Amino acid sequence: MGDPKDLRDQLMEKVNEVKEHFKEALAELKNLEDLKRIRARFIGPKGEVSELMKSLKTLPKEIVRELGRSLNQLKEEISKHLSELEKKLGEEILRKRLLEERKDLSVRYKPTYTPSIHPLTRIMRELKEVFMGLGFEVVEGPELEEEYYNFDGLNIPSDHPARDMWDSFWVRPGYLLRSHTSPVQVRVMTTRKPPFKVVSLGKCYRRDDLDPTHSFQFHQIEGFIVDKGITFAHLKGVLMEFASRVFGGKRKVKLIPSYFPFTEPSAEVAIDCFRCGGKDPHCPICKGEGWIEVLGAGMIHPNVLSNAGISPQEWTGFAFGMGIERIAMLKYQIDDIRLFYENRLDFLKQFSA
Ligand SMILES: [Zn+2]
Repeated sequence: MGDPKDLRDQLMEKVNEVKEHFKEALAELKNLEDLKRIRARFIGPKGEVSELMKSLKTLPKEIVRELGRSLNQLKEEISKHLSELEKKLGEEILRKRLLEERKDLSVRYKPTYTPSIHPLTRIMRELKEVFMGLGFEVVEGPELEEEYYNFDGLNIPSDHPARDMWDSFWVRPGYLLRSHTSPVQVRVMTTRKPPFKVVSLGKCYRRDDLDPTHSFQFHQIEGFIVDKGITFAHLKGVLMEFASRVFGGKRKVKLIPSYFPFTEPSAEVAIDCFRCGGKDPHCPICKGEGWIEVLGAGMIHPNVLSNAGISPQEWTGFAFGMGIERIAMLKYQIDDIRLFYENRLDFLKQFSA
C-alpha cells in the first residue's frame, strides 16, 4: 500500500469511472427490465458502488470519511435518477395499454341506432348527382350577397316591385343575405365566357314567418344553361329527366305561364303526381289534382345576359330554381318544413339508411 494521497486519487478516479459507466448504461436503457439490471449493477448488494465501499475498509480514516461521503452521495443520485425513470416508463406503459384498450372498446361498441344523413343533405347530394349526370357543373356562391348580384344584375332595379318580397335581411348598405340562389347566375356570367351549364345549391333567406310551408331560411337549387340555340324544348327535356330521376317512373312536365323578372318567357313547372298519377281524389300529395308544382323556370331575360356582357343575339339560355325543402317534403312525404330544423331524433332516425 503506497502513499494515502495517491490511494485517495486512485479511488476518486474509480468513483468517476463508475459515474461514466452509469451514464453509458442509461443511454442504452429501453425498458423496465433494463432498469432493473442497471439498478443491480450499480447500487445492488454486489453493485459497482457497493464494491467500492467495501474496498474502503482497510484504508485510513480520513480517506474513508471523504470517499464514503462521495460514494453515498453517488448512490443516492443513482437511486433517485432510476426511481424517476421508473415512474416515467411506468406511465408510458400505462398510456400505451390504455390506448390499446380504447381501440378495443370502439370495436365492440354498438350504437343503439344507425346514424343517418339529414334529409336535406341527402336530397342535395341526390340533386347534385342527377344534374352532374346531365353534364352540369356545381358552383357555389356566397350567402352574404352584394345588392347588384341579388337584384340589379337580375333585371330587378331598385324601383322594381319584385324587390318588395325579397329585400329582407340587409347586413349593411349594399349587402344582404341572398334571397335566392340566382345571383350565382350573374356571378358566373360576369366572370366567364359562355357556354356554361351550371347548378348551384345553398341557403337563402326571406322575411317569411315560420309556418308548415314557410321558413325565413331555406335551401334552393338553381340551374342554368347558356349556349347557342338553347330553347324552351331543352328546358323541358332537362326538367323531365330531373323529375323522372328524383321522383321515379317516367314523369310528365307541365309548364304554366308565369312571371319572373329575370326570365322571359317564364313558367311555373308542375310534374304529374308520382304517387297516384291523378287517379286518387284523396291523394295527400297532389290533393286529387294529379299535378304538383315544383319549381319556377324560363328563358334567361335578354337584359340579364346583356347586363353581364353576353350578347342576347348570339347566346340564349334557360334557368330554373326550386326549393330543396319542397322537393324533400314531396319525396319523403313530410308535412311540416319546421321538422327539418328542429333536430328531433325521432324525425331524423327515420332517415337511417
Ligand atoms: Zn296524387
